[in-house]
Amino acid sequence: MGTHAKRISNAGKTNCPPKTITGYQYGITHERLFSYRYRKGASPVPVTQNMQVHTVFSSCAKREMEIPAIFEEAHAHGLELIAFTDHLNTPEQWDIPSRVREQMVEPPPGLAVLVGCEAQMTAPDRVSITPEVAAKCDVVLIACNHYHLRSVEGPDQGSAADWAAHHLAMIEGAIDTGFCDVIPHPFVLGKVADRVDVDAVLASYDWNALSEILCKAAERRVAFELNPSQVERHFDFMRRIVQEGRAVGCRFSIGSDAHQLKYVGYDHFPGGIDGVEDLLERLGLDPDGIWAPAKERAH
Ligand SMILES: [Zn+2]
Ligand SMILES: [Zn+2]
Repeated sequence: MGTHAKRISNAGKTNCPPKTITGYQYGITHERLFSYRYRKGASPVPVTQNMQVHTVFSSCAKREMEIPAIFEEAHAHGLELIAFTDHLNTPEQWDIPSRVREQMVEPPPGLAVLVGCEAQMTAPDRVSITPEVAAKCDVVLIACNHYHLRSVEGPDQGSAADWAAHHLAMIEGAIDTGFCDVIPHPFVLGKVADRVDVDAVLASYDWNALSEILCKAAERRVAFELNPSQVERHFDFMRRIVQEGRAVGCRFSIGSDAHQLKYVGYDHFPGGIDGVEDLLERLGLDPDGIWAPAKERAH
């Protein structure tokens, strides 16, 4: 895929041993990101971002997901950062981020906007986009559990433990691309609940392997997404992920995987944004644990 190797030093922020990484890092050119800041609210973990929003360019999104309507919704809920992350599953979709940019209108004051994508791993060593496509995105999400799609390989007749191991291999593959920023909706295989017991998968993760993945993600600055509905449903597991992840320097992005307007400002979630803030507090997430591109740049 034409990536080149690069040696980085361990910045000492993690408990992980120093390693050589391959792949390349690309800069996010959006100047407004420098002005990113937390909303000054009462919550110890203010939620001011939604890092997974689909527009009408994703065929699975509702037709109401036009850019101006999304902006209005984000602004009305006090968000300061949103990311457009349409699906890039096939080569015909690779130009969607440029088409989103063509349709771009001025966002409301105080709202920073990233134009990115949600790509996917189709096998542990196969990703649905190229480094060139990734380089045109402000933020790259790589889904590692789109097992409901025909194009995505999974351990079909496997046990819960086989699914867990396969998903971890997919995550490792995503990190190894060198261009992944965020793993969306991680660990929970809800989309294939008809093929495998989701709770049995969560119970069968090998925590030694998971810890290594958390370390590797922290080291390579790859964040894990916290999807409020999913986290609430599998709270104990996700709390352990957050706690062990933070101990080794992982960061977490907050995103609702919005396919309709009420998800943009978290109105779909009990208590709305306040409910999400309460959830993050219960998880034990600290404000510095929330991922934002500006923090990576400052690094
Ligand atoms: Zn997805
Ligand atoms: Zn999505």
